[in-house]
Amino acid sequence: MSSAEPTQHAALDHFPVVDDCLQVGGEPLTRLAERAGGTPFYLYDRALLDARVAELRSSLPADISLHYAVKANPMPALVAHLASRVDGMDLASEQEMRLALDAGVPAHRLSFAGPGKRPAELRAAVAAGVTIILESLGELERVGAIAEALGWRARVGVRVNPDFELKASGMKMGGGPRVFGIDAESVPAALARIGELDLEFRGLHIYTGSQNLSADAIINAQHRIVALALELAEHAPTPPAFLNIGGGFGIPYFAGETPLSLAPIGEALTQRVQEVHDRLGPTEIIVELGRYLVGEAGLYVAGVVDRKISRDHPFLVADGGLHHHLAASGNFGQVIRKNYPVVVGNRFRGNERETVTVTGPLCTPLDLIADRVSMARAEPGDLIAVYQSGAYGLTASPTGFLSHPPPGEMLVG
Ligand SMILES: *Cc1c(COP(=O)(O)O)cnc(C)c1O
Repeated sequence: MSSAEPTQHAALDHFPVVDDCLQVGGEPLTRLAERAGGTPFYLYDRALLDARVAELRSSLPADISLHYAVKANPMPALVAHLASRVDGMDLASEQEMRLALDAGVPAHRLSFAGPGKRPAELRAAVAAGVTIILESLGELERVGAIAEALGWRARVGVRVNPDFELKASGMKMGGGPRVFGIDAESVPAALARIGELDLEFRGLHIYTGSQNLSADAIINAQHRIVALALELAEHAPTPPAFLNIGGGFGIPYFAGETPLSLAPIGEALTQRVQEVHDRLGPTEIIVELGRYLVGEAGLYVAGVVDRKISRDHPFLVADGGLHHHLAASGNFGQVIRKNYPVVVGNRFRGNERETVTVTGPLCTPLDLIADRVSMARAEPGDLIAVYQSGAYGLTASPTGFLSHPPPGEMLVG
């Protein structure tokens, strides 16, 4: 038997606590709940978004470009806020493209990736002048035909499915047979075809996975990505304007996880930048991040509707849950369910504490917010706050399931 302390979540100190109430953007959570017109709702903090961008800028080499992967959180005000703070955005649908263009990101700073882009999406992207990241040889031919029919030169990049995997990654998206990207061994032929079709070749995109908390694993992947990109770039019709080397930077969600160290990644990248500039000249190197930029800046807040004791175990039933925040319920690809960091936002420490299970209102045992967590004792009307909720929250959730109303969203501070 271990005598160690029970495993804890990483320090939750990015939202201050005043009079035992969480503060977001300088306002108490209770007041924000009134401003939201009631629970449940998502809250995102502008200052935390800015702090995260600043941290990345100071840790990574100055000539690394920072892109935002819009699918992590497409709230229009948040996308508009980030538009002037990052160097570009990566899109995964036509709707995300419109959002980013409306937010003022210039088309040449946008790239549109993702498998199965429909012909109408490709036409819209060609018309907008957005770089289409080709995911297959078939898509390459479709873009060639569309560009010819429309009479505009299409900007394209090639997503490469590398012949290696990112170790210790939460979600693997490269190596082996994949729906994402063109297999590395077929990329030289694809690049030649881009030249034949007279498409405007912009660059290579190599993305190997997501939610990685190991700096060593990320450094190793970036090393191999750059080596592969330099090799493939020799087959390009023109030197690549950019190399998108992916991201995969993770944030700590669960007990025992520790934050990623940026400093060693920054140091290693300095060498990669040098290698690329020595071989290719002024090629832009892009790191694309979703979750790392926005995940920690967000809270999901649900109100307690009922408190009940079942066979001695206390339950809190909240007005939000799985249908708004699938990931926190443990049903967004997790193999083993673990609790997100959760507190009673208006009784941060509380006078009395208890071990309690917090559920949502849906008629399914999957609708869990937190199972057997230690929290301040809460009553109906209190506010349950789920940390690490700024990425893959609302738009990664089945809001139609059981037909409850959707949550609000506010960007504050
Ligand atoms: C989803 C995705 C991202 C963002 O991943 P995060 O884990 O949120 O940083 C970046 N690039 C591509 C190609 C993606 O599919």
